[in-house]
Amino acid sequence: MRDFSYHAPASLAEAHSLLAQYGDAARLMAGGTALTVMLKQSLVQADHLVSLQRIPGLRRIHLQSDGLHIGALARLRDVETSPLVKEHAPLLAEVYRQVATVRIRNQATVGGGIVHADPAQDPPPALLVLDARLRLVSRAGQREVPVREFFLDYYETALRPGEVLTEVIVPLQTKHARAIYLRYTPRTQDDYPTVSVAALARVERGVCREMRVALGAAAPTALRITAVEEALRGKRVSQAAVRRAAALVAEQVSPLEDFRGSADYKRDMAVVFTRRALEGVLGLG
Ligand SMILES: Cc1cc2nc3c(=O)[nH]c(=O)nc-3n(C[C@H](O)[C@H](O)[C@H](O)COP(=O)(O)OP(=O)(O)OC[C@H]3O[C@@H](n4cnc5c(N)ncnc54)[C@H](O)[C@@H]3O)c2cc1C
Repeated sequence: MRDFSYHAPASLAEAHSLLAQYGDAARLMAGGTALTVMLKQSLVQADHLVSLQRIPGLRRIHLQSDGLHIGALARLRDVETSPLVKEHAPLLAEVYRQVATVRIRNQATVGGGIVHADPAQDPPPALLVLDARLRLVSRAGQREVPVREFFLDYYETALRPGEVLTEVIVPLQTKHARAIYLRYTPRTQDDYPTVSVAALARVERGVCREMRVALGAAAPTALRITAVEEALRGKRVSQAAVRRAAALVAEQVSPLEDFRGSADYKRDMAVVFTRRALEGVLGLG
């Protein structure tokens, strides 16, 4: 691994100055769990690491009228154990609880996980079905980007040079809606999922009024599967409708063949796990 200088700014303004000063030679670091591996493997090269750890306020989780605000420096374990998250976005508490091991969850941050943009990561499908937004702050100002527009390709996001992800804004989970997250890990429980599915649904008198579905590890990015959502929204809930809708997933995904399985196998598993998730949120389980 090549040598680098380590900077620990005490404010966001100072971090922005360092990013402006060193340009492409600088890289932000949060928990460091992904970045250090990439540096060691020379997949990323940086002469300057700019740590976000000393910047105050970035680890806060609080409630506002537009939803739950989760600071980018919140650890995965903070989200898993937060009473606010458990009450207002229980799907997220459940998803973060299932990531890797407690040791990693105590180190890795929410923001680092999102910007890393590995398509097999657990949180993105849940963030997609909850319609979460990201606050990106640069020297020039700030913007909010829906998670749905943030992931562009394998490890590629809409983050611009000089921007820092400061928080994730999660609209409160609709009351009376059921939500579920399933991850398929045939090797070990703490592995990245072979496929994963998040779903959220609201059923009234046997009719599906709201349906949101997103998959992870099944394409270059996590993705919402609108074909499945449209096939079920407004329809009477039945086992047959669920089977028909889940089958649509096969055409929507484009998994990469790797040591977790062939593309065909992952496509089949995407259909199976979508069906199980739909049965779960529609109360057919
Ligand atoms: C062995 C192992 C197993 C894992 N298993 C899983 C798993 O099964 N599922 C899962 O979801 N995750 C898993 N993870 C965690 C995940 O893959 C990442 O390592 C972690 O989420 C990255 O968070 P971090 O805070 O350490 O980010 P870092 O490593 O510090 O940074 C990652 C990237 O994000 C950028 N960055 C960080 N913070 C910001 C910010 N606020 N604004 C802009 N850019 C930023 C960095 O420049 C870097 O490019 C695993 C990790 C390890 C080490």
